[in-house]
Order: sequence, then C-alpha cells, then structure tokens
Amino acid sequence: MEPGEHDSGSDVLKTAFITGISGQDGAYLSRHLLQLGYRVIGGDRVTSSGSLWRLKTLNILESVEVIHFDLGEFSNIYEVLEKYDIDEVYNLAAQSSVAASFEMPTLTADCNGMGALRILDVIRKISPETRFYQASSSEMFGNAAISPQNESTPFHPRSPYAVSKLMGHWSAVNYRESYKMFSCSGILFNHESPLRGDEYVTKKICRAVADIHHDRQEFLEVGNIQAKRDWGFAGDYVRAMHMMLQQKSADDFVIGTGKSRTVQAFIEACFQYVGSDLVWEGKGLSLTGRDKSGKCRVKINPKFFRPAEADNICADAAKARKILKWQPEYSFEDLIAMMMDYELER
Ligand code: NAP
Repeated sequence: MEPGEHDSGSDVLKTAFITGISGQDGAYLSRHLLQLGYRVIGGDRVTSSGSLWRLKTLNILESVEVIHFDLGEFSNIYEVLEKYDIDEVYNLAAQSSVAASFEMPTLTADCNGMGALRILDVIRKISPETRFYQASSSEMFGNAAISPQNESTPFHPRSPYAVSKLMGHWSAVNYRESYKMFSCSGILFNHESPLRGDEYVTKKICRAVADIHHDRQEFLEVGNIQAKRDWGFAGDYVRAMHMMLQQKSADDFVIGTGKSRTVQAFIEACFQYVGSDLVWEGKGLSLTGRDKSGKCRVKINPKFFRPAEADNICADAAKARKILKWQPEYSFEDLIAMMMDYELER
C-alpha cells in the first residue's frame, strides 16, 4: 500500500504532517511516528532560526520530509493539504514562550490562535477526514482556583500566550462540534528534555548548573522560584498526542504527571545531581542559594519576573490514564538526569 493510504485497524503506513517539526516536540513526535512506520512530513519556516539540530541530534533528519511552511500563510497551508494525502495533522507550531508573549502579544495571538483556526478551516474545506491534534497548554488554567486541573477545570489565562492557546483550543473543540471533524486538543503540562529551547527556565537552570560545576559560570539568576509546575519528559508526552488521534472518537485530554514542584525544587535537584547541596538564605528578592563553601550560586533577579504568573499548575490526567491508557515512563529524577547529563557533556 502507498504512503497515505490506510484502513483503520490494519497495520499500514499513514502519513502525518507535523507543524513545528524543528521544535522539541516536533523532533520527539517525528521519532515516535517513524518508529511506528509513519511517513512523516514536517513544516519548517523559511525564516527558521533554529535549524533542524534536534532532528539531527535524534538521528532522524534523513528520515523525515521537511517542507517550507508558515502558519501565518493561508495559501501555504492550503497547498500542503492539497498536495499530500495526510491522515493526521499535529499542530505543534507556536510562538511557545510565555515570557516572549508579553513582548509580542499580537504575533503570539496570530500564530497560536489564528494559525490553529487557519489550519482547521483548510482541513474542513479540502480534507475533512484528516485527523487533527492541537497543542494546547496547561498555561490556559493559569490562575486556576482548583488544583489539580482536569478537562473540566475553568480556564483563567495569565499571559498572552495562554490567551492565544485558548483560541486554538476552542477552535479545535468548535470544529469538532460544528463539523464533526476528528479534532483533539491535548492540554499538556510542562514537558522538558535535553532538546528544550535555551529560553526555557529548566534548560537555563541545567545549563547554568553544569557551567557552575565546570567553573565556567559563577551563579545562576532566576525570577519567581516559588512558581510551581508539573514537569514531565517530552518523549512521554508525544506518545499521548498520537494515542489521542487513534481513538474511536475525538476528545480533549489533560496530560501531566500529577506532581508539581517549585522552580526552587528544580534548581536544588540539579545542584544535587552534581553533588552540591544548596543552602538557602534570606527572603524575597534577597534570597540566595549558597554551596557548602558559602559561595553564592543562585540569585533572584526581578527582571525575570513575569507581569502575571500561573502559580500552581498540576495535572489530573485520570481521563488519559483511563481512556488512552497513557502514563509517563520517566520520573522527575530521570528527567533531571537526562537534562543534566546532556549539559555536562555539552
Ligand atoms: P518549540 O520547541 O518552541 O517549537 C515550536 C515550533 O513552532 C518551532 O518549530 C518553531 O519554528 C515553530 N513555529 C513558530 N512560529 C511558527 C509559524 N508562524 N509557522 C510555522 N512554524 C512556527 O515548542 P515545543 O516545546 O516543541 O512545543 C510544541 C507545542 O506544544 C507548542 O505549540 C507549544 O506551545 C505547545 N506546548 C508545549 C509545552 C511544553 O512544555 N513543551 C506544554 C504545553 C503546550 P522555528 O524553529 O522556526 O522557531
């Protein structure tokens, strides 16, 4: 059978199109789908600054087909869906930095909100059988009154990023309800890996701790270390994306570990990994983390605080466990080890 053809239930090749293939999740999802026998086509911006280093790192660059693609260009989306016989679209492309979204709110809204709507509308018009996955985010819960959060928890976005993701989420739901499209929204909690972008706090911490350990940096500067997140490994989360699109009917799922930790705890775990136990002194902006020789290794810098923060984000992924039979294979400690080993060897 040719790529793109499939009967549900039989073990044949399917074709997946991944927007944002150059990103962290794009790389892990590509690897996962290739292992399952998929033909993987990925969209990469002409203006892409990041190159395809993640695909190279996973040794799969030669196995995927990378084409020029931008979520801002309606005709571009149209051409891709018309040219290829695509079974599954994974819409991972986004301006994905919460911090940057405060500086670029309209660009973020256009890419993350309008971009999802554009792609859904093209699917509706020319390829309604194509299954669609929308990369939604736990940031949509923001200042949630309830913790942990599940699919029924009311949203309270706390950043332009989260607001834009809500538009993508509700568009995915709306196209499912209005046009009976197979459109799923995965509400994923933070997931990290050695392939995380440099601008993210977990990567910044791991890199700084490795550099401090190698005497290449004196201290780490961070913002609100009391913010809590539910962190998992990206490789586990892309499996859930694929599982959602294999169900009998489309639905939305919360994906996360169910354990949230402060940024401070993440920092401590990284220092412990290199054999250094931090001692915390002071309070608020004067809080410092010192190593056993008394050297200051962590400082608070108000420039890294966000105008509004999502304080306590923690997943209740019971629905995904029950229906998708999904659960993470890697623990928080595994994640720290993976990320720290990568940075120590870098
Ligand atoms: P990422 O590493 O930042 O990747 C984002 C991708 O989107 C990059 O490939 C980027 O391309 C591409 N992109 C940006 N603007 C685009 C545009 N206008 N047209 C086409 N492509 C564009 O993000 P990630 O961690 O893999 O996350 C994947 C998705 O899941 C994102 O939508 C993110 O918001 C969402 N999400 C992530 C997490 C998490 O913890 N990682 C949690 C919840 C939801 P360039 O290389 O050209 O920049």
